[in-house]
Parts: sequence; structure tokens; C-alpha cells
Amino acid sequence: MSQVVDLHLHTHFSDGTWLPEELVAQAARLRLTAIALTDHDTVEGCAPTAAACETARLEFVSGTELTAEQDGHEIHILGYLIETSHPILLAELAKFQHVRQERIREMVVRLNRLNVPLKVESVFALANCRSPGRPHVARALVEARLCGNLDEAFERFLKKHRPAWVPKFKMSAAEAIALIHRAGGVAVMAHPGLNRTDDVIPTMVEAGMDGIECFHTKHSTSMVEHYLELADRFHLLVTGGSDCHGLSKGTPLVGTVKVPYQHLERLKARAAERKKETIPNKGRL
Ligand code: AMP
Ligand code: ZN
Ligand code: FE
Ligand code: FE
Repeated sequence: MSQVVDLHLHTHFSDGTWLPEELVAQAARLRLTAIALTDHDTVEGCAPTAAACETARLEFVSGTELTAEQDGHEIHILGYLIETSHPILLAELAKFQHVRQERIREMVVRLNRLNVPLKVESVFALANCRSPGRPHVARALVEARLCGNLDEAFERFLKKHRPAWVPKFKMSAAEAIALIHRAGGVAVMAHPGLNRTDDVIPTMVEAGMDGIECFHTKHSTSMVEHYLELADRFHLLVTGGSDCHGLSKGTPLVGTVKVPYQHLERLKARAAERKKETIPNKGRL
């Protein structure tokens, strides 16, 4: 395959371990044509990643990964080609970041009640970002030798309904899609095969979802085929990416999910249409 892209990547601006420069160096080494940054609930990493991509002559796609809830399922929604300085987007992201920080405090309170002496400062120091999440708590538990590894931390404490898990307020899928559209972006359902949430797809299509992430590290060949078929049936764009979090779990995943450039071209065409629709209305947003 000549032109390959990876459209799902994280840096230390959320729960990845790499700096933007480290991510871009890896992507350049693998000769990727383009990368999209999709940190959870933040676009802070976009400017430095774009700058590093320019130096490395790699195409950069702005993005973020939002968490929503639909019919009792947690859904991740990728927003691509968003305007990263859009004031409404930034105000909403700041709220989600605040919720994330408060949730970390609450998780540590619960751990302490379980006689696990983790210090909240150690989690914030390790996370060193505005958009901390459970992986940071897991890493802090491992670093403090309170858990043997990240999987143990999730299994014992952090997974849904485990003793230190704290539910998080989430917007609906329709709200997430609308927010991405307002910021001129394209809304894509992330890794639908991860928690088998096909039943929410028609609702999301109804809400204006543009695409579906068919190619993902955790999708089997049959899942990829299944979601390509759904994309076709619902007239959705197709995307894909590795969901690389740097070195958090051994070998880095960047570039391991090989997505042909043509999918990015379609994504860009959709974003261009959307911007034509939204920009004349900007004053009324
Ligand atoms: P949060 O956004 O704080 O709810 O954390 C969710 C993130 O935690 C996901 O994006 C994954 O990267 C990670 N995660 C979820 N479950 C596990 C698990 N069992 N083991 C390792 N990482 C996980
Ligand atoms: Zn993550
Ligand atoms: Fe995700
Ligand atoms: Fe992700």
C-alpha cells in the first residue's frame, strides 16, 4: 500500500505517553502519509503535533476523542478536522476536563478508603495534563508498587463497577456529534467493535454521524468486514487507526493499522462541505 494514514493517536496531552515530537518521529520513521491526533477531551496537542508534522513533511489532521453515553452504553466519538480554536468547542472541552480532574480525586478517595495509600498529587504529577483519566491512576498505582501492572490496576480497582470506579457525567451521542459539527468537524464513531454497541448506530446516524471507525487495533478481520458493510448500508465514511497510546503497554501501535489515504480524502471533502455550511452562520452560533 503506498499512502497509509493512522487516524487514531494519543499523546501525553491525554493518556498517551509520548510527546507530539516523539509520536511524529515514529510516524515519519514508518513513512505514514498523514496522522490524526485524537486525545481525549482536548485539542491542546494539536498545535505542537501540527508543527512537528510540518517539519517532518507529514500531513496533520486535527482531532479529539469525546466520551458520550447512548442507551446505557459508553460511546467514543472522534471529531476530525475541527477548528481547534473554536470558542464553544474549547469551553465544552474545559468542562469535560474539569469533570475528569474531579473524578481522579474521587477515585483516589475511594482507593484510600480501601486502604490503598495512593496520593492524588502523584496521579496529577504523573498525568501532567488537563485531561487525566483512569490510565494515569493505573500508572500511578504501578509506580507506587500498589499494583503489579496496569491490567491488575484495572481489574482490581478501575474497571466499570470495580471498587474505585467512579461514573462520569457524559453527554449524549447526539450532543457530541452536534458539538463536533459546530466546530466545523466530522463526527466518527470510534471502535464500535470494542463493546459491541451496534444497536446505537441507527440513533447516531439519525443524529448526523458522518463516519465509523472500521479499522482498529482491536477489530478482528470479521469485525472490519462487518463494519465496512454497515458503513455501506448507512452511507457512512470509513476511518481507522491504531489507538496508539505510546509506550503505555509495551510495543507502540502507531502504524500497525494501515488505512488507505483515500479514506482521509473523503473525510476532508466532508469537512470542506461542513465548513461551507457552518461558516456563514458563525455569528449566530
Ligand atoms: P477514562 O477516560 O478515564 O474512563 O479512561 C478510559 C481509557 O482507559 C480508555 O481510553 C483506555 O485507553 C483505558 N482503559 C480502559 N479499560 C482498560 C483496561 N482494562 N486496561 C487498560 N486500559 C484500559
Ligand atoms: Zn485513551
Ligand atoms: Fe476510545
Ligand atoms: Fe482512543
